Amino acid sequence: MTDTPTEPAQDAQDARDLKPAFRSDVTVELVKHSAADTDVLWAARVSTAGEQSLEEITKDPERSKGLINYLMRDRHGSPFEHNSMTFFISAPIFVFREFMRHRVGWSYNEESGRYRELQPVFYVPGETRKLVQEGRPGKYVFVEGTAEQHALTTRAMEDSYRQAYEAYQEMLAAGVAREVARAVLPVGLFSSMYATCNARSLMHFLGLRTQHELAKVPSFPQREIEMVAEKMEAEWAKLMPLTYEAFNKNGRVAP
Ligand SMILES: Cc1cc2nc3c(=O)[nH]c(=O)nc-3n(C[C@H](O)[C@H](O)[C@H](O)COP(=O)(O)OP(=O)(O)OC[C@H]3O[C@@H](n4cnc5c(N)ncnc54)[C@H](O)[C@@H]3O)c2cc1C
Repeated sequence: MTDTPTEPAQDAQDARDLKPAFRSDVTVELVKHSAADTDVLWAARVSTAGEQSLEEITKDPERSKGLINYLMRDRHGSPFEHNSMTFFISAPIFVFREFMRHRVGWSYNEESGRYRELQPVFYVPGETRKLVQEGRPGKYVFVEGTAEQHALTTRAMEDSYRQAYEAYQEMLAAGVAREVARAVLPVGLFSSMYATCNARSLMHFLGLRTQHELAKVPSFPQREIEMVAEKMEAEWAKLMPLTYEAFNKNGRVAP
């Protein structure tokens, strides 16, 4: 008897026991952070006040707010880099494909489909997800689908996910390696990762991955990555309220 989780026979048994689950939401948790408006002020003031800058920070709140706004407006970006936020994110693979295009100021670690068996959790759009795309490239609008379109989407996705996961289980049960068997799994499968960023890289991400009335340069992201971005934004806004206010005031363009 062995308790080694990587034994093929144990994997096969585990796989047979798993039933697909369907989700229409995403998970975002702030798991670690060192991020505050004072980090921005400290970094900015070192240029004028040198090592005295730390003492100056809390002296004059209005001046601090003004300085952050000036840095944002004039796009002096580097003072917004001296902080760190680590998020745990669970979302469909198609969201991660878009997410990992953000290269600068981001670190990622994602669960492995080679070292562990992938869990059968799949994305199905919720009732409020607009289903129908109208217009032309660059000018798309999304409108509600009919009840029939929603029912079809749910049924087609769930059937397809079940079939794909059964094939995955069948291969694992026959001793095929996880890294080979995973090829049949679709991009609607949930994955999980840690993503670490700073306020500057997060602002760049939010500018591109949210649709917002205050945005000077509008973006039209896929709704599912926007769901992730909105949750990250809510966490960040609590940590750095002055920076967040200045970001919105200056058209949500990363400095
Ligand atoms: C609505 C939307 C639709 C999209 N559609 C597609 C699509 O159809 N196909 C597709 O492939 N991608 C698509 N993308 C992804 C997009 O092209 C970017 O890869 C992604 O948004 C990351 O942006 P970024 O490169 O600015 O970010 P980062 O990689 O984080 O880079 C940040 C900034 O650093 C600088 N930088 C980074 N790397 C370089 C470099 N090599 N050379 C010069 N400057 C650099 C740039 O100023 C850049 O803005 C889409 C993105 C959005 C928001």
